[in-house]
Amino acid sequence: MPIARSPQPSDADQPSRRRLLAWTTLGAASVASAALAGCSDSTPAHGSAPLPGGSGEPSDSFSPGDPGNPQAASGLPSPVAASPVAVRGKAVFTVHDLLPNAPADAVALTIDDGPSPVYTPQMLALLRKYDIRATFSVVGSQAHLYKDLIKAIAADGHTVANHTMTHPQPFSHHTAAQIEQQIVDAQSVIVDAGAPAPTLFRSPGGDWSPTIFATVAKYGMVPIDWDIDPRDWSRPGVPHITSKLLAAHPGDILLCHDGGGDRSQTLDALKTVLPALKAKGLSFVTL
Ligand SMILES: [Zn+2]
Repeated sequence: MPIARSPQPSDADQPSRRRLLAWTTLGAASVASAALAGCSDSTPAHGSAPLPGGSGEPSDSFSPGDPGNPQAASGLPSPVAASPVAVRGKAVFTVHDLLPNAPADAVALTIDDGPSPVYTPQMLALLRKYDIRATFSVVGSQAHLYKDLIKAIAADGHTVANHTMTHPQPFSHHTAAQIEQQIVDAQSVIVDAGAPAPTLFRSPGGDWSPTIFATVAKYGMVPIDWDIDPRDWSRPGVPHITSKLLAAHPGDILLCHDGGGDRSQTLDALKTVLPALKAKGLSFVTL
Protein backbone atom coordinates (compact mmCIF):
# COMPACT_ATOMS: atom_id res chain seq x y z
CA MET A 1 0.00 0.00 0.00
CA PRO A 2 1.58 3.33 -1.00
CA ILE A 3 2.25 5.82 1.72
CA ALA A 4 0.24 9.03 1.58
CA ARG A 5 2.67 11.81 2.35
CA SER A 6 1.59 15.09 0.84
CA PRO A 7 2.56 17.95 3.12
CA GLN A 8 0.83 21.23 2.45
CA PRO A 9 2.79 24.43 1.87
CA SER A 10 1.41 25.85 5.09
CA ASP A 11 3.13 23.03 6.97
CA ALA A 12 6.54 24.00 5.65
CA ASP A 13 7.57 25.78 8.83
CA GLN A 14 6.32 22.98 11.07
CA PRO A 15 8.40 19.93 10.19
CA SER A 16 7.54 18.02 13.35
CA ARG A 17 3.85 18.68 12.93
CA ARG A 18 4.04 17.62 9.30
CA ARG A 19 5.78 14.39 10.19
CA LEU A 20 3.25 13.68 12.88
CA LEU A 21 0.37 14.13 10.45
CA ALA A 22 2.03 11.87 7.91
CA TRP A 23 2.65 9.34 10.64
CA THR A 24 -1.02 9.47 11.66
CA THR A 25 -1.98 8.75 8.07
CA LEU A 26 0.44 5.86 8.03
CA GLY A 27 -1.05 4.53 11.23
CA ALA A 28 -4.52 4.49 9.77
CA ALA A 29 -3.24 2.69 6.70
CA SER A 30 -1.44 0.19 8.87
CA VAL A 31 -4.61 -0.57 10.81
CA ALA A 32 -6.47 -1.20 7.57
CA SER A 33 -3.68 -3.46 6.38
CA ALA A 34 -3.63 -5.29 9.68
CA ALA A 35 -7.36 -5.89 9.46
CA LEU A 36 -6.85 -7.67 6.17
CA ALA A 37 -3.73 -9.67 6.76
CA GLY A 38 -3.03 -9.63 10.46
CA CYS A 39 -0.47 -7.19 11.79
CA SER A 40 2.29 -9.66 11.65
CA ASP A 41 5.65 -10.79 10.59
CA SER A 42 3.71 -13.02 8.32
CA THR A 43 6.23 -13.56 5.57
CA PRO A 44 8.40 -16.58 6.34
CA ALA A 45 12.04 -15.67 6.63
CA HIS A 46 13.17 -18.38 4.26
CA GLY A 47 10.01 -19.41 2.49
CA SER A 48 7.68 -18.06 -0.12
CA ALA A 49 4.28 -18.95 1.27
CA PRO A 50 1.60 -16.41 0.40
CA LEU A 51 0.17 -14.15 3.03
CA PRO A 52 -2.95 -15.61 4.55
CA GLY A 53 -5.89 -13.26 4.64
CA GLY A 54 -8.78 -12.56 6.91
CA SER A 55 -7.42 -14.21 10.02
CA GLY A 56 -6.04 -11.19 11.77
CA GLU A 57 -7.48 -8.14 13.40
CA PRO A 58 -6.40 -4.58 13.92
CA SER A 59 -3.75 -4.13 16.52
CA ASP A 60 -5.13 -3.33 19.93
CA SER A 61 -5.54 0.32 20.85
CA PHE A 62 -3.72 1.36 17.70
CA SER A 63 -4.41 5.09 17.54
CA PRO A 64 -1.27 7.09 16.83
CA GLY A 65 -1.73 10.80 16.93
CA ASP A 66 -4.16 10.67 19.81
CA PRO A 67 -4.94 14.36 20.39
CA GLY A 68 -5.19 13.65 24.09
CA ASN A 69 -1.56 12.68 24.14
CA PRO A 70 0.73 15.60 25.07
CA GLN A 71 3.38 14.27 22.72
CA ALA A 72 1.04 14.80 19.79
CA ALA A 73 0.91 18.51 20.49
CA SER A 74 4.68 18.92 20.54
CA GLY A 75 5.46 16.63 17.60
CA LEU A 76 8.00 13.87 17.36
CA PRO A 77 11.26 14.05 19.27
CA SER A 78 14.41 15.01 17.40
CA PRO A 79 16.13 12.31 15.37
CA VAL A 80 18.63 10.26 17.32
CA ALA A 81 22.26 10.69 16.37
CA ALA A 82 23.87 7.43 15.34
CA SER A 83 27.22 6.01 14.34
CA PRO A 84 26.92 4.03 11.12
CA VAL A 85 27.88 0.38 11.06
CA ALA A 86 28.90 -1.87 8.18
CA VAL A 87 26.15 -2.64 5.67
CA ARG A 88 25.08 -6.27 5.75
CA GLY A 89 23.87 -8.11 2.68
CA LYS A 90 21.45 -10.24 4.65
CA ALA A 91 19.74 -10.29 8.00
CA VAL A 92 20.88 -12.23 11.05
CA PHE A 93 19.01 -15.57 11.26
CA THR A 94 20.72 -17.28 14.19
CA VAL A 95 22.12 -16.24 17.54
CA HIS A 96 25.72 -17.00 16.66
CA ASP A 97 25.53 -15.00 13.42
CA LEU A 98 25.27 -11.97 15.67
CA LEU A 99 26.91 -13.19 18.86
CA PRO A 100 29.71 -15.61 17.97
CA ASN A 101 30.80 -15.78 21.61
CA ALA A 102 27.35 -16.63 22.97
CA PRO A 103 27.08 -19.94 24.83
CA ALA A 104 26.77 -22.92 22.49
CA ASP A 105 23.34 -23.73 23.93
CA ALA A 106 21.99 -20.18 23.48
CA VAL A 107 18.65 -19.38 21.91
CA ALA A 108 16.97 -15.98 21.57
CA LEU A 109 13.29 -15.21 22.03
CA THR A 110 12.11 -12.23 20.00
CA ILE A 111 8.72 -10.65 20.67
CA ASP A 112 7.27 -8.34 18.04
CA ASP A 113 4.68 -5.67 17.29
CA GLY A 114 4.13 -4.27 20.78
CA PRO A 115 4.07 -2.81 23.21
CA SER A 116 0.48 -3.76 23.95
CA PRO A 117 -1.23 -2.56 27.11
CA VAL A 118 -2.97 -5.93 27.35
CA TYR A 119 -0.30 -8.48 26.49
CA THR A 120 3.08 -6.86 27.14
CA PRO A 121 2.63 -6.72 30.94
CA GLN A 122 1.65 -10.41 30.92
CA MET A 123 4.67 -11.23 28.77
CA LEU A 124 6.98 -9.34 31.10
CA ALA A 125 5.56 -11.18 34.11
CA LEU A 126 6.04 -14.55 32.42
CA LEU A 127 9.63 -13.77 31.45
CA ARG A 128 10.33 -12.59 34.99
CA LYS A 129 8.90 -15.82 36.41
CA TYR A 130 11.36 -17.91 34.39
CA ASP A 131 14.25 -15.42 34.63
CA ILE A 132 14.46 -15.06 30.86
CA ARG A 133 15.59 -12.01 28.93
CA ALA A 134 14.20 -11.46 25.43
CA THR A 135 14.36 -9.00 22.55
CA PHE A 136 11.27 -6.87 21.93
CA SER A 137 10.88 -5.51 18.39
CA VAL A 138 8.59 -2.58 19.07
CA VAL A 139 6.51 -0.46 16.71
CA GLY A 140 7.17 3.25 17.16
CA SER A 141 3.54 4.34 17.19
CA GLN A 142 2.87 1.87 19.99
CA ALA A 143 5.98 2.96 21.87
CA HIS A 144 4.76 6.54 21.61
CA LEU A 145 1.44 5.61 23.20
CA TYR A 146 2.82 3.29 25.88
CA LYS A 147 6.09 4.79 27.04
CA ASP A 148 5.80 3.22 30.47
CA LEU A 149 5.82 -0.21 28.85
CA ILE A 150 9.00 0.64 26.94
CA LYS A 151 10.55 1.70 30.23
CA ALA A 152 9.37 -1.54 31.86
CA ILE A 153 10.81 -3.67 29.06
CA ALA A 154 14.19 -1.97 29.36
CA ALA A 155 14.12 -1.99 33.17
CA ASP A 156 13.68 -5.78 33.18
CA GLY A 157 16.87 -6.17 31.14
CA HIS A 158 15.28 -6.96 27.80
CA THR A 159 16.58 -5.52 24.54
CA VAL A 160 14.42 -3.09 22.58
CA ALA A 161 14.74 -3.30 18.79
CA ASN A 162 13.38 -0.94 16.12
CA HIS A 163 10.47 -2.42 14.14
CA THR A 164 9.52 0.72 12.14
CA MET A 165 7.12 3.47 13.07
CA THR A 166 3.85 1.99 11.77
CA HIS A 167 4.71 -1.53 10.53
CA PRO A 168 4.02 -0.90 6.81
CA GLN A 169 4.00 -3.95 4.55
CA PRO A 170 5.54 -4.77 2.20
CA PHE A 171 8.25 -2.55 3.60
CA SER A 172 10.67 -3.03 0.69
CA HIS A 173 8.14 -1.56 -1.74
CA HIS A 174 8.39 1.85 -0.14
CA THR A 175 10.69 4.62 -1.34
CA ALA A 176 14.10 5.15 0.21
CA ALA A 177 12.84 8.33 1.87
CA GLN A 178 9.82 6.57 3.34
CA ILE A 179 11.96 3.69 4.62
CA GLU A 180 14.35 6.12 6.25
CA GLN A 181 11.54 8.11 7.86
CA GLN A 182 9.97 4.97 9.29
CA ILE A 183 13.28 3.93 10.85
CA VAL A 184 14.28 7.39 12.11
CA ASP A 185 10.90 8.17 13.64
CA ALA A 186 10.73 4.85 15.46
CA GLN A 187 14.26 5.29 16.76
CA SER A 188 13.44 8.75 18.10
CA VAL A 189 10.23 7.65 19.79
CA ILE A 190 11.86 4.61 21.41
CA VAL A 191 14.63 6.74 22.87
CA ASP A 192 12.13 9.37 23.95
CA ALA A 193 10.18 6.64 25.75
CA GLY A 194 13.22 5.80 27.83
CA ALA A 195 15.00 2.87 26.16
CA PRO A 196 18.57 2.87 24.88
CA ALA A 197 18.87 3.68 21.17
CA PRO A 198 18.24 0.35 19.41
CA THR A 199 21.17 -1.29 17.67
CA LEU A 200 18.91 -3.91 16.10
CA PHE A 201 16.26 -3.53 13.40
CA ARG A 202 13.63 -6.05 12.36
CA SER A 203 11.76 -5.41 9.14
CA PRO A 204 7.98 -5.98 9.10
CA GLY A 205 7.37 -9.41 7.65
CA GLY A 206 11.10 -10.07 7.41
CA ASP A 207 11.01 -8.13 4.13
CA TRP A 208 14.45 -6.83 3.13
CA SER A 209 16.07 -4.89 0.31
CA PRO A 210 19.46 -3.27 -0.33
CA THR A 211 17.89 0.09 0.56
CA ILE A 212 16.66 -1.24 3.89
CA PHE A 213 20.06 -2.78 4.69
CA ALA A 214 21.86 0.48 3.83
CA THR A 215 19.47 2.61 5.86
CA VAL A 216 19.60 0.35 8.89
CA ALA A 217 23.42 0.49 8.83
CA LYS A 218 23.38 4.26 8.43
CA TYR A 219 21.58 4.51 11.76
CA GLY A 220 23.86 2.10 13.56
CA MET A 221 21.66 -0.99 13.51
CA VAL A 222 22.04 -4.63 12.52
CA PRO A 223 19.16 -6.31 10.62
CA ILE A 224 17.73 -9.29 12.49
CA ASP A 225 15.40 -12.06 11.39
CA TRP A 226 14.42 -15.42 12.89
CA ASP A 227 14.58 -19.12 12.07
CA ILE A 228 11.76 -20.53 14.22
CA ASP A 229 8.35 -19.14 13.27
CA PRO A 230 5.27 -20.65 14.94
CA ARG A 231 3.05 -18.15 13.06
CA ASP A 232 1.48 -17.30 16.38
CA TRP A 233 0.10 -14.07 14.94
CA SER A 234 -2.43 -16.17 12.95
CA ARG A 235 -3.68 -17.82 16.16
CA PRO A 236 -3.20 -21.40 14.91
CA GLY A 237 -3.94 -22.84 18.35
CA VAL A 238 -1.81 -23.26 21.46
CA PRO A 239 -0.67 -26.83 20.59
CA HIS A 240 0.67 -25.70 17.20
CA ILE A 241 2.59 -22.75 18.66
CA THR A 242 3.90 -24.91 21.48
CA SER A 243 5.15 -27.73 19.24
CA LYS A 244 6.89 -25.35 16.84
CA LEU A 245 8.70 -23.56 19.65
CA LEU A 246 9.62 -26.75 21.46
CA ALA A 247 11.53 -27.83 18.34
CA ALA A 248 14.10 -25.09 18.99
CA HIS A 249 17.76 -26.04 18.84
CA PRO A 250 20.84 -24.23 20.08
CA GLY A 251 21.39 -21.06 18.09
CA ASP A 252 17.80 -20.57 17.01
CA ILE A 253 16.05 -17.20 17.04
CA LEU A 254 12.40 -17.68 17.96
CA LEU A 255 9.66 -15.35 16.72
CA CYS A 256 6.58 -14.51 18.82
CA HIS A 257 4.25 -11.52 19.13
CA ASP A 258 2.86 -9.48 22.01
CA GLY A 259 1.17 -6.87 19.81
CA GLY A 260 -1.00 -6.56 16.72
CA GLY A 261 -3.99 -8.52 18.00
CA ASP A 262 -5.09 -11.19 20.46
CA ARG A 263 -1.89 -12.81 21.72
CA SER A 264 -3.42 -15.00 24.42
CA GLN A 265 -2.47 -18.17 22.50
CA THR A 266 1.14 -17.02 22.37
CA LEU A 267 1.18 -16.42 26.11
CA ASP A 268 -0.43 -19.78 26.86
CA ALA A 269 2.10 -21.57 24.67
CA LEU A 270 5.05 -19.80 26.26
CA LYS A 271 3.89 -20.88 29.73
CA THR A 272 4.77 -24.40 28.62
CA VAL A 273 7.60 -23.66 26.24
CA LEU A 274 9.81 -21.45 28.39
CA PRO A 275 10.34 -23.88 31.28
CA ALA A 276 10.55 -26.82 28.87
CA LEU A 277 13.33 -25.26 26.78
CA LYS A 278 15.23 -24.34 29.92
CA ALA A 279 14.82 -27.93 31.12
CA LYS A 280 16.33 -29.11 27.81
CA GLY A 281 19.45 -27.15 28.69
CA LEU A 282 18.93 -24.19 26.39
CA SER A 283 19.88 -20.76 27.71
CA PHE A 284 18.08 -17.61 26.62
CA VAL A 285 20.10 -14.61 25.51
CA THR A 286 19.14 -11.19 24.23
CA LEU A 287 20.30 -10.20 20.78
ZN1 LIG B 1 5.96 -7.26 13.04
